[in-house]
Amino acid sequence: MLESAQNLIRTIGERMGYEKSKIEQFIAPEMAFEFSIPLEKEDGTTEVLTGYRIQHNSSRGPYKGGIRFHQDTSREEVQALAILMSIKTAVANIPMGGGKGGVRVNPKKLTQSELKQLSKRFAAKLAHVIGEDIDIPAPDVNTNATIMQWMLEEYEKIHGKKEPAAFTGKSVSNGGSLGRTEATGYGGVIALQELLHKLQPNKQSKVTVAIQGFGNVGYYFAKAAVCEGHTVVAVSDSKGAITGNGSDNGLDIPLVHECKKKQGSVCDSTKGKTISNDDLLELPVDVLVPAALENVIHEKNMEKIQAKIIVEMANGPTTEAARQYLISKGVLILPDVLANAGGVIVSYLEWVQGKQGIWWTQADVINRLNEIMRASFEDIWSHSKKQSVDLTTAAFEVAIQRLLSPK
Ligand code: GLU
Repeated sequence: MLESAQNLIRTIGERMGYEKSKIEQFIAPEMAFEFSIPLEKEDGTTEVLTGYRIQHNSSRGPYKGGIRFHQDTSREEVQALAILMSIKTAVANIPMGGGKGGVRVNPKKLTQSELKQLSKRFAAKLAHVIGEDIDIPAPDVNTNATIMQWMLEEYEKIHGKKEPAAFTGKSVSNGGSLGRTEATGYGGVIALQELLHKLQPNKQSKVTVAIQGFGNVGYYFAKAAVCEGHTVVAVSDSKGAITGNGSDNGLDIPLVHECKKKQGSVCDSTKGKTISNDDLLELPVDVLVPAALENVIHEKNMEKIQAKIIVEMANGPTTEAARQYLISKGVLILPDVLANAGGVIVSYLEWVQGKQGIWWTQADVINRLNEIMRASFEDIWSHSKKQSVDLTTAAFEVAIQRLLSPK
């Protein structure tokens, strides 16, 4: 993923006429931290974990991006995701840069107190190189509002002052913003609605949707899609996938959600039929939504994808080869740096509120999210039409222009 992100920027940057050295300077992270985190386990043993924070670009504002806890997290992955954050914040046109963090660990194997200790030690390691005007972390894969709160507590203890805007994605009772939890999923549906409207301006299109990943992002995407009158016919999680078997094959999203909460997997819903994760990606639906991890659409399955629209809610879910192939087949890809920007947009709104000590209503936040998402969609769509390029290329061109030659 790192190589393809870098190569995409090189190709696009050179075509736009930027000097090679300027592009290379942009690609390299401004700062990279790799550090050990000793974790004292409840069984008395100590495990030494590796943590990362890559501060990629700050030319438009403080570094911004999530922290993930995952067993496959690596320096390369975090660096690639940090680059994507710089592109994403520029696409959204918010005054922030790009960064990313992570720990190579399977958090599902940790107890709650081990998870808390890990979060606090991670924050302690970074306490002197982050902050509300420097670098503002947020949740990502397997991290959440509770983890942000633990990290903020440790950060504030070290600095001896309150600084709620140093982390975003906190719970509302701890200085978070209303609407942040739903933001990424809702933002994706706002972008999808804009796209459908461009494709058929005189019609309220109703589409069938398959969602790979039913975590925070997938769930709120499903919920908002159903509100818009679409039919979610399949969802999956790491344990398997489920498809509806009623008259329209639609799933009862609240029921599936309830079931996942109770039993830990979407597959246990009584109303659905179980299929494999691979089957889900290849279903004959209008819209496919990868909302979990990177590189799930690749050379081995790209020919079997039947959806006409892909909404990339995960970061980097389509490999470069698969992207090129699918575009050549006429598939419309709504790129991650636009489709999933709702999360960082509401993080930005949370930061603005936290810095000023004022709190907006949920409706206020969602209205602002709507405005920013729509404006970014319009920028990318009109650029893609003007330059006759696909939406991913258009997003990268607009972002690179904003980052490398600001007005
Ligand atoms: N982790 C999210 C992303 O990849 C949100 C980042 C943020 O809010 O800073 O966009």
